[in-house]
Amino acid sequence: MTNTSQPGSPPALVTQPDELRLALAQARRDGHFIGLVPTMGALHEGHLKLVDAAAAECDLTVVTIFVNPTQFGPGEDFERYPRNLDRDLALLAGRGAGLVFAPRTEALYRAGHATRVEVDRVTAEFEGRCRPDHFRGVATIVLKLLQLAAPDVAYFGQKDFQQCVVIRRMAADLDVPVKIRVQPTVREPDGLAMSSRNAYLSSTERQQAPGIIRALRSAAAMVARGARNAASITRLMREQLRSAGLEPIDYAALVEPLELMPVEEVTGPTVALIAAHAGRTRLIDNLVFGEDGREIELGEILD
Ligand code: AMP
Repeated sequence: MTNTSQPGSPPALVTQPDELRLALAQARRDGHFIGLVPTMGALHEGHLKLVDAAAAECDLTVVTIFVNPTQFGPGEDFERYPRNLDRDLALLAGRGAGLVFAPRTEALYRAGHATRVEVDRVTAEFEGRCRPDHFRGVATIVLKLLQLAAPDVAYFGQKDFQQCVVIRRMAADLDVPVKIRVQPTVREPDGLAMSSRNAYLSSTERQQAPGIIRALRSAAAMVARGARNAASITRLMREQLRSAGLEPIDYAALVEPLELMPVEEVTGPTVALIAAHAGRTRLIDNLVFGEDGREIELGEILD
């Protein structure tokens, strides 16, 4: 397979796992360095920046588009999750993706499937507590995609901070020979983290939603002014979320970035994490900062 990742040219579309495996085996024989960008589609600039990062570093960028049923809980938005493959392919054409893998559910979860990947400890709190089984579904699908594509590098967004920690843990523990690269969160001009789920927001909720990044930035600002005590910082975050109408709050916490252990005092790189609701839509975001309160990119700490 030749390198098709020329900006402007449409990516090749593959829907069968075997087809993907064969195409990439050939690319590897041709000496290509392969980058993988797993997504659930409904692409936005946050996804596309991952593609840019992959295309800048790799000979062949593979984007997967798959709304993974096993990471959605009962009553979550699997059915109504936005899907628009034609639009996604058109967006990718301009961005240097060489190959898109967009399988049907049955192609990846074949009859009789019974195996799940369970990552302990770093899944115990936050998203793992609020969404039981979510990370089993995430770890399972990501491992499957890593097995099929066998990329040199896989790209993930800091937007899903705990997911990055879980995937790095899984890849290390299961000896998956891949480099996990974490890219910064891409935001709307008012600071709201881009998310496919932002499409669910009513105009009132859309106005409330930037309250999340304001609360995160207030936490960093408080640290910059010398605050150290996590309880008083998270109290401020909660007050801000409440005053923006972003309730219920699932969590507003400060943790250290590698193991997500709660911090009592800010003494080094710290992640402020929030999950809160705007109406019926659940939003998550995070900000990493140093003990001087200055923002740090997670990728810098992890590399
Ligand atoms: P999703 O389609 O929501 O599963 O996301 C696919 C990948 O894109 C994940 O690695 C996400 O963390 C990443 N991503 C989603 N939103 C953003 C964003 N606003 N900025 C950076 N990366 C993002």
